[in-house]
Amino acid sequence: MRFEFSPEDEAFRLEVRAFFRDHLPPPMARRFYIGAHPPSREDVRAFQKLMHGRGWGAPHWPLEWGGTGWSPLRKHLFMQELYDADGLDYSWQGLHMVAPVMLAFASEAQKRRFLPPMLAGDEFWTQGFSEPNAGSDLASLKTRAERVGDEYIVNGQKIWTSDASMAEWGFFLVRTDADVKPQRGISFLLIRMDTPGLTVRPIVSIEGGLGLNEVFLDNVRVPCENLVGEPGMGWTYAKYLLGKERTASAFLYFNKRELEKAREIATVQRVNGQRLIDRPEFARELARVEVDLLALEYSVLRVLSQEKNRHDLDAVVSALKLRGSALQQRVTELQVEALGLHALRQWGHDEGEALAGGEALRWPPQVPGRTAQALITRASTIYGGSQEIQKNIIAKLAFGL
Ligand SMILES: Cc1cc2nc3c(=O)[nH]c(=O)nc-3n(C[C@H](O)[C@H](O)[C@H](O)COP(=O)(O)OP(=O)(O)OC[C@H]3O[C@@H](n4cnc5c(N)ncnc54)[C@H](O)[C@@H]3O)c2cc1C
Repeated sequence: MRFEFSPEDEAFRLEVRAFFRDHLPPPMARRFYIGAHPPSREDVRAFQKLMHGRGWGAPHWPLEWGGTGWSPLRKHLFMQELYDADGLDYSWQGLHMVAPVMLAFASEAQKRRFLPPMLAGDEFWTQGFSEPNAGSDLASLKTRAERVGDEYIVNGQKIWTSDASMAEWGFFLVRTDADVKPQRGISFLLIRMDTPGLTVRPIVSIEGGLGLNEVFLDNVRVPCENLVGEPGMGWTYAKYLLGKERTASAFLYFNKRELEKAREIATVQRVNGQRLIDRPEFARELARVEVDLLALEYSVLRVLSQEKNRHDLDAVVSALKLRGSALQQRVTELQVEALGLHALRQWGHDEGEALAGGEALRWPPQVPGRTAQALITRASTIYGGSQEIQKNIIAKLAFGL
């Protein structure tokens, strides 16, 4: 197997690199580097507007809705440059999750209403699927939506709802029929987050971030026109959504960038006068992670280049998630190990601005944010399907167990 980028692709890569160099404000890039979780509402909006202004607001969308028409390989090159420049990944729940569902199943009126403001960075979205007793076993969700005239009356609770406090809209899985097989009674409903009766309560995550939330729905009235597709088809749409971004869960770009940062840290950190990177134990561990990451990258490229695989693609995608999330944890741990005592300083989620100014100067620039990143990446083996669930999928689809 040989991967080679054409001269046109190389030129494209340089064009993207130049754009970020010339247009991404350094203080913003610095805040993204520190990796505040979640990034501030202002930064998320400003970044999406920057991308939209260049015509890169949603590279993966169809051209007629504002996409770029890039090949999978170009998208790959683009994402690599975006991460290398310390840019912000695209708003996941909106552009990557609900948009593909809308493009496939929503009415023309819904597409025209919701897609343009999403692309322009004027409206952001949150995903209301999980509930206190419905995570891996999502089909057992209990939030009810009862149709009364032209409205649904929604009651229930969601949990782990990322970015709910920043979002204007949420896409929710709700039970509209309790008398059929669990999967058949679920519908896909769009709810404004400021609707009376809807309350968002933050959950402080391990590193002090406020990205996670509980969402309580108490007699929330939602117009029936906010239902996507057919009633009872929500499960099908949710499965479509979760299968849409086949290689993203490898966290490849994040992992590559963070490995480079680990290397940078190890180049400046010294132990007994010796650079950490020159110490065999550390160099060996770094090399081990690098080799694993290279294997992951080639696996991603094989999927992107649509190489034939003897296994079911869903099993391959689960394997990418399994390896990618474990590596995400390993790479960020490596940074913390390399920082040694410096890593004891926790940097809060709201310190980005201050750090971009004076205080950061008193610390080696690689320090802020690393410990918080290492802590929050513990979650990557849970969300988007836990490790055990991925292994179940691989066992079933790849090995017929
Ligand atoms: C940081 C973060 C962000 C999230 N963001 C969102 C969001 O925006 N929107 C949203 O809807 N949800 C979100 N989630 C929720 C996420 O999807 C769930 O946490 C996940 O599906 C696991 O469900 P659970 O937490 O209920 O754990 P459970 O399903 O209760 O699992 C508990 C443990 O049991 C194991 N287990 C469960 N079933 C099986 C099985 N069949 N075989 C073997 N082991 C099993 C699991 O692997 C896990 O170790 C987020 C979660 C996190 C941590």
